[in-house]
Amino acid sequence: LTHHRVLIVGGGAAGISVAARLRRAGVTDIGLLEPSTTHYYQPLWTLVGGGRAGARESARPEASVVPPGVAWIRAAATAVDPDAKRVTTTSGASIDYDYLVMAPGIQLDWDKVPGMSAALETPDVSSNYAYELAPKTWDRIRNLRSGTAVFTQPGGLIKCAGAPQKIAYLAADHWRRQGVLADIDIHLVLPTPGLFGVKVFAEELERVVDRYGITVHTNSEVVEIDAQGRRAVVTDHGGGTTHSLDYDFMHVVPPQSAPDWVKASALADPANPAGYIEVDKHTLRHVRYPEVFALGDAGSTPNSKTGAAVRKQAPVVVANLLAAMAGEQTLPAGYDGYSSCPITTARNKMLLAEFDYTMQPHPTIPLIDTTKERKDMWLLKRYGLPALYWNLMLPGRA
Ligand code: FAD
Repeated sequence: LTHHRVLIVGGGAAGISVAARLRRAGVTDIGLLEPSTTHYYQPLWTLVGGGRAGARESARPEASVVPPGVAWIRAAATAVDPDAKRVTTTSGASIDYDYLVMAPGIQLDWDKVPGMSAALETPDVSSNYAYELAPKTWDRIRNLRSGTAVFTQPGGLIKCAGAPQKIAYLAADHWRRQGVLADIDIHLVLPTPGLFGVKVFAEELERVVDRYGITVHTNSEVVEIDAQGRRAVVTDHGGGTTHSLDYDFMHVVPPQSAPDWVKASALADPANPAGYIEVDKHTLRHVRYPEVFALGDAGSTPNSKTGAAVRKQAPVVVANLLAAMAGEQTLPAGYDGYSSCPITTARNKMLLAEFDYTMQPHPTIPLIDTTKERKDMWLLKRYGLPALYWNLMLPGRA
């Protein structure tokens, strides 16, 4: 049996940022439970699928991002017992903690849509939601000269809700440059009533969709895929009807939820079948277990699930955790729901949508109008944000 003063579950964007910040604050006994030997900068996968970056650029050895002085336990959590303050792992070991930070990310439920997994085995269907598949997306986009292309977003919360659209715009822009856009019928299937939850950004995206001649199916979801027949079954929740779309190429995004072992634990929100860890949306402390904090995609906070949100959540978790460890009764820091979504609208243009719990625009870059697609914002997406992630966010400096 091992014991750590602070145990962090998950060494992704959230877990590493918190570990680095705790080390910088002088906390010494930190365990990090993370099974993967590779750390991924997932936002780059959109650009990989769009032919604007190489997949390997998104991956670094996990060992290179684990902060010195943190005990990396190379195993996955299989259960958590917050009453016993104990986490069990795939290696059969148990780890006890005084304080727990949960950051295991979100689960991709590929099998929730009948036929989706099988379709990904065929040449015509891909997804930027997997490192191995993002290069296939670009391969298929590059080779398509005519026919029907379908881009889907599932119902429910997903990480980076803009990503299902971003790849549609990158593909459309590529086809426009190749002179084949008129020969490709593009469909975007979205579960939401509009292109974006914040009005100014939705209006800008409507102009983008019109420019490319994309047919948008709102309030709709792909509920089944017939890979052999190259046909997707689409349910329109608005009209209550079901129809099918034949495709020559389809980019799919799987439904998502908390990892199954989290859903089955006492940390999950019992009112939500997606099973996210039930924390206070400002303090990020668990509502029933005061020594537990959670952030990132696995948390129940009603913000848009992005790395940008994690960047704002990590300092809040650390400040509040340090206060709790010092025995303070009130927690000093609060998260305002900030999230941002850099939406690539063309191979060299980007719309930086920034907003918070109020769902009002929340711009952080002075002097320029980020409610419009811009070329300078493209440089931020392609070069600025990856550098920010590796050099400042993961080491706990920004
Ligand atoms: P992750 O970074 O996914 O890390 C979770 C970690 O937990 C992983 O290392 C995993 O191996 C580990 N883990 C899993 N199970 C266990 C277990 N049982 N025990 C221990 N460890 C475990 N965000 C943006 O801000 N901007 C974007 O443009 C953007 N684009 C995106 C595009 C795509 C295609 C995708 C897939 C994501 C995108 N995101 C974007 C979202 C962003 O990547 C996530 O929101 C962010 O990584 C969340 O951080 P996290 O630490 O919660 O989860």
